[in-house]
Amino acid sequence: MAISVRRMWSRFTSIAGLGFLLAIRVRPKLNGVEIDGRFRYYVGPQALQPLFSTFWSSGGWRRPPVMPGEPVFSSAVRDGVMFRESPRRGHDEWVSEIRRMVQQRLTVAQIEVAFVASLGSRRLDLRSALSSFAVARVLPRHAFLAAEGRSGCAVCGLLEGDSATDLNVLSFERFKWGGVRRTNLHYVHFDLDQFARAPSLSMGESDLETAAHLISVLSAADAIETSTSVEKRLSFLPSTQAERLTLVDILGVAGVLAPRDHPGFAREFVSVVKRDQPPRHFVDRSYPVSWWKGSDGVDAEVVSEMLPNTAARKFSL
Ligand SMILES: [Zn+2]
Repeated sequence: MAISVRRMWSRFTSIAGLGFLLAIRVRPKLNGVEIDGRFRYYVGPQALQPLFSTFWSSGGWRRPPVMPGEPVFSSAVRDGVMFRESPRRGHDEWVSEIRRMVQQRLTVAQIEVAFVASLGSRRLDLRSALSSFAVARVLPRHAFLAAEGRSGCAVCGLLEGDSATDLNVLSFERFKWGGVRRTNLHYVHFDLDQFARAPSLSMGESDLETAAHLISVLSAADAIETSTSVEKRLSFLPSTQAERLTLVDILGVAGVLAPRDHPGFAREFVSVVKRDQPPRHFVDRSYPVSWWKGSDGVDAEVVSEMLPNTAARKFSL
């Protein structure tokens, strides 16, 4: 069943940009496990179509979004991919909740399986847990720290009072690209919360070969390549350019890519005020991959820790 879901997903993502819809409702294998009182969400084309069409058209972003009418919206809510409410929490509550989630629910093994299986299957909703896990794992317990010229916390960027981000746009970005607001703690929380409800995939031999090849390609990039130019080397993956750029972002935040003097989050939390950008007039990438050059390569220690089965495949550094 996992294979058929992969095929359907790959087919859907390849035609979604053209606005076609598959008429077949795909129900991925549900294992009947209830998590926090809710079942796993659905990833079939019909379940995702209302979410995608709310925010995206053949011309790009819909601004403002066009919410579906009832009962389509109700159906998407029942399928677990759209939401009626976006929880608001204060700074301390967001921080403690994220720390609790990562400590109690998640393991490196789960994260690697999801990331590796996402590469060939194009299940982008499984991909960003790698970076979200890395951020959450090192998020320090801390009180709101004011900083001059900033409304958000100097450590994590959250506002001191109650704050929220629309879960529907976070859900759309997660399914379409593997998330966008990578170090935004609202996204980190949402991503890890949804990860626990995601229909899982297994990690096969070919998936591991693909992941090892990905790491090899990145580690062998020419010295002058950037996080933008290296994207073309990843076109062996079933993907769009935007998905490949997002993948590079995920690997940077997770600490797999290793810009000199500008680390990701593999070993310690990088405060908002330390996430500086290169002194160029135009910087189109986010921290830390905005600093990455091919000469920086890959951090083999982080690969061994976060992607141990991939590391065992003997990618060449
Ligand atoms: Zn903070």
